[in-house]
Amino acid sequence: RYSGLPFHKTLEEFDFSFQPSIDRKQIMELKTLRFMYEKENVVFLGPPRVGKTHLAVGLGMEALREGKKIYFVNAITLVDRLKKAFVERHFEKTIRFYKSLDLLIIDELGYLPLDTEGAKLFFELVSQKYEQGSIILTSNRSFTEWDKIFEDEVLATAVLDRLLHHSMIVNIRGKSYRLKEKQKTGFIA
Ligand code: ADP
Ligand code: MG
Repeated sequence: RYSGLPFHKTLEEFDFSFQPSIDRKQIMELKTLRFMYEKENVVFLGPPRVGKTHLAVGLGMEALREGKKIYFVNAITLVDRLKKAFVERHFEKTIRFYKSLDLLIIDELGYLPLDTEGAKLFFELVSQKYEQGSIILTSNRSFTEWDKIFEDEVLATAVLDRLLHHSMIVNIRGKSYRLKEKQKTGFIA
């Protein structure tokens, strides 16, 4: 069953009234996990602290509840592992692990750009995972900026192609949740 979840927060704990740019119905549809059974992907886009990771974790917890194999990993950690696996000649075995998952959650793609080798290995993973289980990905970068993440327009387009072919995109354009917490304690008027 694996997991790797950085914290345990449920979709019930998510305050939708705080984030009106999120369509609650869309999240409730995702909560049915139909996307996972149909091997589709989900992408959460938006600035920091708007709840991307929370929603990804919440969906991961739903999948765990159904006894599915899930794994949560930070994008940079994932790419570092792929690189290490490649150098140490167990890339195939590593890929097999990721392919075996019902749901792979890749968090924070785009906080740092990938180097050429990392970008290629990331593409390899996404290609191999294509129609083989689901990916939930979170990113603070809009798709038009992905060529900056991959430092290569062709590779960025190829990754987007595979990832978005069967996918649901949740664009969050709201305010940071920290602001709300500070407002409560009176730090921000
Ligand atoms: P992001 O991944 O977009 O940077 P997070 O999901 O990590 O943001 O959210 C930051 C913190 O704020 C987390 O502790 C999360 O649970 C909380 N949070 C964010 N948005 C909401 C919300 N709408 N309702 C409840 N908690 C939220
Ligand atoms: Mg996050």
